[in-house]
Amino acid sequence: MPAQTRLFPCRSDNYGVLLHDPETGATASIDAPEAAAVETALKATGWKLTDILVTHHHADHTDGIMELKEKYKCRVVAPAAEAAQIPGVDLTVREGDKVEVGKLSANVIETPGHTNGHIAYWFHADKLAFVGDTLFSIGCGRVIEGTPGMMWRSLLKLRDLPDDTDIYCGHEYTAANIKFAKTIEPDNMDLAAREAEVTRQLAKGEPTIPVTIGEEKKSNPFLRADVAGVAAGIGMAGKEASQVFAEIRARKNKF
Ligand SMILES: [Zn+2]
Repeated sequence: MPAQTRLFPCRSDNYGVLLHDPETGATASIDAPEAAAVETALKATGWKLTDILVTHHHADHTDGIMELKEKYKCRVVAPAAEAAQIPGVDLTVREGDKVEVGKLSANVIETPGHTNGHIAYWFHADKLAFVGDTLFSIGCGRVIEGTPGMMWRSLLKLRDLPDDTDIYCGHEYTAANIKFAKTIEPDNMDLAAREAEVTRQLAKGEPTIPVTIGEEKKSNPFLRADVAGVAAGIGMAGKEASQVFAEIRARKNKF
């Protein structure tokens, strides 16, 4: 049976998301931004929390772990490289490891850059990927611990996922990201189409995610640093993609 998800806003601009296996009843919270919001989502669905899948150690992704773990005795899965910075960890995982939530199965993809141990969970059979703060719709996470080159390679791994993969990210930043993206690719018609869609979604109070990786590839400048027109547009024709990416990221930091 296909996976079910429930997305909910929490904190100031975070997204929480529950992933549910209808066959076994297993339910994972992707990260735990805050316990109360996760519990509200659990009550609304009637699902019982069995797992927390952590993408990285930042407090706005881990603050709720211990309260939820004490209440639900759920298993906490976390990146091996950051386990020491994350409370309550039961299982550490690395690149290529598999994580089961009931009968749902994820591949672990290491995506360092935002933090050095950041991981994504790719449920390939269900065409879902939970990417934390590595990739946002029309944006990407700040490169806080790693290098731009590291972040670019991480984004390439996510870009390689099948086009129809639904991407769930950690924050609602899409409208601001589009404003910036238009300064990099003012003539990108796919970006203009995405802007129109996002404006409609936000006006109705709807989230702008999930979004497919196929859609992001056409309109997210951070996934397009190796497109000749993007490099040329910012005066970097012929430069290495990782350098172009670093320049786009630097401009966004100042935007
Ligand atoms: Zn973060």
